[in-house]
Amino acid sequence: MNVQQLRISPYDANTYLVNGKILIDTSMKPDRLVQQIKEHTDIHNLELIILTHCHYDHTASASHIATTSGAHIAIHQDDAPYLNDDIMSVAYIFGHPTPDIKADITYQDGDIIPLDDGEALEVIHTPGHTPGGICLYEPVSKSLFSGDTVFPDGSIGRTDFSGGSARDLSRSIEKLTHFDVQTLYPGHGPVTDDNVKRQIQLSLEMARSV
Ligand SMILES: [Zn+2]
Ligand SMILES: [Zn+2]
Repeated sequence: MNVQQLRISPYDANTYLVNGKILIDTSMKPDRLVQQIKEHTDIHNLELIILTHCHYDHTASASHIATTSGAHIAIHQDDAPYLNDDIMSVAYIFGHPTPDIKADITYQDGDIIPLDDGEALEVIHTPGHTPGGICLYEPVSKSLFSGDTVFPDGSIGRTDFSGGSARDLSRSIEKLTHFDVQTLYPGHGPVTDDNVKRQIQLSLEMARSV
């Protein structure tokens, strides 16, 4: 699996380009994102835009990228209804209405997204930050795209937005501790491969303490 972290701005969610054809999260600056994608691949090679959850800082550019590239938009079925909800998408915090985003594909826990050479991303439903938040696990490279569920150094996603649940988040992180993760690609902050299992364990302790 080849992963490019596209750097949009310090205020944006992380955006990852996988094998030049799958985009994980989209940031808030469509023009800059298109420019960055073009540095790595022909934009028309993009097939799929996976949104880890319904929050505006991850989804705002999705429609623009989908229209420009022809890629489909995918999100967990429990967050799909909130893509265009100003409150649930937290668009109001950023002072914008949500752009009109339509999910072409909805996921459930355990769904498999095939990559190349026998690799695949597994959808792990991790509610807590939002009802339909997901993480994506690739077992060959032992990679986890963790959205806003866990961050490096034992940090965890907020649960005080509408649809958040501290109890669900704690259960979701517990689920993540059963995966053998070597590289963590978080929704915010740096990518890390430094004893990631320990970092997720620290996140679980943090989640249980709040
Ligand atoms: Zn975020
Ligand atoms: Zn979020």
